[in-house]
Amino acid sequence: MTDRTLRRPLVPKALRADFPIFDQTIAGRPLVYLDSAATAQKPRAVLEAMTRFYERDYANVHRAVHTLAGRATEAYEAAREAVRRFLGARSAAEIVFTRSTTGSLNLVAQAYARPRLGPGDEIVLTPLEHHANLLPWQRVARETGARLVFIEPTDDLRITEAAIDQAISPRTKIVALAHVSNVTGAVAPIAHAARRAHAVGAVIVVDAAQSAPHLPLDVRALDVDFLAFSGHKMLGPTGIGVLYAKEEHLRSMEPYEVGGEMIDRVTLFDATWREPPWKFEAGTPPIAEAIGLRAAIEYLEAIGMDAIEAHVVRLTNLAAEALANEPGVTVYGPRTDRHAVVAFNVGRIHAHDVSTVLDAEGIAVRAGHHCAQPLMTRLCVPATVRASFYLYNDEDDVERLVVGVRRAKEFFGDVFGEPVSGDHPGSL
Ligand code: PMP
Repeated sequence: MTDRTLRRPLVPKALRADFPIFDQTIAGRPLVYLDSAATAQKPRAVLEAMTRFYERDYANVHRAVHTLAGRATEAYEAAREAVRRFLGARSAAEIVFTRSTTGSLNLVAQAYARPRLGPGDEIVLTPLEHHANLLPWQRVARETGARLVFIEPTDDLRITEAAIDQAISPRTKIVALAHVSNVTGAVAPIAHAARRAHAVGAVIVVDAAQSAPHLPLDVRALDVDFLAFSGHKMLGPTGIGVLYAKEEHLRSMEPYEVGGEMIDRVTLFDATWREPPWKFEAGTPPIAEAIGLRAAIEYLEAIGMDAIEAHVVRLTNLAAEALANEPGVTVYGPRTDRHAVVAFNVGRIHAHDVSTVLDAEGIAVRAGHHCAQPLMTRLCVPATVRASFYLYNDEDDVERLVVGVRRAKEFFGDVFGEPVSGDHPGSL
């Protein structure tokens, strides 16, 4: 952690100067980027770290003994150490580089869960999960005869400790849940879920795709077994993800993919594996991307994850409140304590149409099912608009969003009508 006294203040306008993407107008207006939950923009420090590596030090890792290979290997392993520090993990052996959150969760489902599950075993999830933390478990359940059990959320779509207690049983083997929902922005009580999972001999798998970008993570304090996230949502490049796993699990698991780089000895009929984490990194890994991720982590740490969390929560709740006060707008999820995302609909106007009007105002938001179709079904809507906030956003962006939503209502006045989803559970 960076010394607080040396920290860089979180002043969004000043930070925006670090991001080349903001050096343009969209539809003649300064860009308001409210789609960071899908993917975040990149500061120059990340772009330059990757360019510098390609221009000066580029080579493959772990193979050759020449100078460039040495530098590349050192930089790649230094990136792993940066991730270890960022997560508070015990050892760099617990940090596996993957291609994304999706890649990390499939790895856990196939390499950890599949050989250990059988008929009658239960996998506990929530109905709010992103497809990346649902489909790997559906598949492994089909393959092993295990059963999916869903934690019942509250009416405003929060996951409570009591609901977790109710879903976990002596048959539970895996508890897999998102730390922060990519639709509601609600934070799940992970430390509690970990305690309850361990009490019945189960492991906990955390989808941290939406929490790693904005809140301080401490895998030892949370006592989680597995935790997955993506570089691209936290200012880093695409093509790199992280799987944190307790070393004892990695040691007990067979590799997910096999091939170059991950072996100890190979004969024509057999092979032995390297130690973790390399055992799980078959083939040429995302080297420049790991270096970019390290630069992103250092950028975030210079500001401080607690300061980023406070800023993002404040802006998100401001936006949720302002939108909820707009006649005809339905905001989904809890009233307070949202992290980074606000999902909403505007009357009977389709989310894509709202998003198109906002785009014409230079405002980028997401419209769709957010890879959470079961949740959309529960909300009785085909799609929602989703605005998401990060360290480069400020109150002016919230104001422009609200004005943009009013413009959509004016534009689609004839179909505005009643809210899409009225007073169904989950509306604010
Ligand atoms: N889980 C959550 C909660 C997400 O928001 C996302 C990305 N939208 C993912 C998993 C998947 O991340 P990726 O596409 O980077 O694998």
